[in-house]
Amino acid sequence: MSLIIIGSVAFDAIETPFGKTDKIVGGAATYAGLAASYFYKDVKIVGVVGDDFTQGNIDILNNHGIDTEGLQVKQGEKSFFWSGKYHNDMNSRDTLITELNVLADFDPVIPESYQDCEYLMLGNLTPQVQQTVIKRLKNRPKLIVMDTMNFWMDIAMDDLLETIKMVDVLTINDEEARQLSGEYSLMKAATKILTMGPKYLIIKKGEHGALLFHQDQVFSTPALPLAEVFDPTGAGDTFAGGFIGYMAKVGTINFNNMKNAIIFGSALASFCVEKFGTERILNLTDAQIEERIKEFVKLSSFTI
Ligand code: AMP
Repeated sequence: MSLIIIGSVAFDAIETPFGKTDKIVGGAATYAGLAASYFYKDVKIVGVVGDDFTQGNIDILNNHGIDTEGLQVKQGEKSFFWSGKYHNDMNSRDTLITELNVLADFDPVIPESYQDCEYLMLGNLTPQVQQTVIKRLKNRPKLIVMDTMNFWMDIAMDDLLETIKMVDVLTINDEEARQLSGEYSLMKAATKILTMGPKYLIIKKGEHGALLFHQDQVFSTPALPLAEVFDPTGAGDTFAGGFIGYMAKVGTINFNNMKNAIIFGSALASFCVEKFGTERILNLTDAQIEERIKEFVKLSSFTI
């Protein structure tokens, strides 16, 4: 039984107040896959790269036990490239370059060996492509988590609404929740979005943590206050990967396990931002993750 992650596998060039990188390996599926691999051993990726993406680059995933049979390599084409520059507060960024390249006409291929999928993470891509993946799986996975962004709300709202109907968990940030629902209050926004199809909603609030909604229940987790945030790129994808990886590990879908899953996702994201790109989430130990989880518990537990 496996966990499939679909999303961009890319080259990124990042600039923050602390420095800048040349092209480094990034992409939503890369971050999510690496994060998930700390909790679940059978992670598989569906994506596309060009022939500029070397075997050495693919090894970053394979070294974490991630199956890349579903990662198409298009000869004579270039990989998706994204470049961004963060402002001094690190909360906002400008996208400098988006070169879709191979992503422009991405047609996801699901290898036969992926048909045992129990957990599916739909990384941020066109809602059409996300939907295609669900339809190409012979059996509906036990849990489908979908990430998306305001861009698709602007240009493909109908497709987005149709895809949202097919998933169990939607992860978006606070501004996107407001845009999708037309409500300013996040409580009202959540109530509305939960009528659109997903049974669970996660609203990410960056350095302010995340909220989990299900029926009339709400759970809030903080983000770990870090002395130094080096590069927030991929934090959301790392969160989502950690979340679904943990859910796959425990195997039972309910609100209580999801509460733990968003803590584990937040813990992985807190590592991610400590260094450029994927660097910090390449070589974590179980002991480091455990220690960080304890910090979360300490941060938010109290008795009266
Ligand atoms: P995040 O910081 O969570 O927004 O994720 C950043 C990652 O998303 C980077 O590694 C980019 O390669 C990737 N990315 C940026 N824009 C897009 C896009 N339009 N479609 C797919 N992936 C993207």
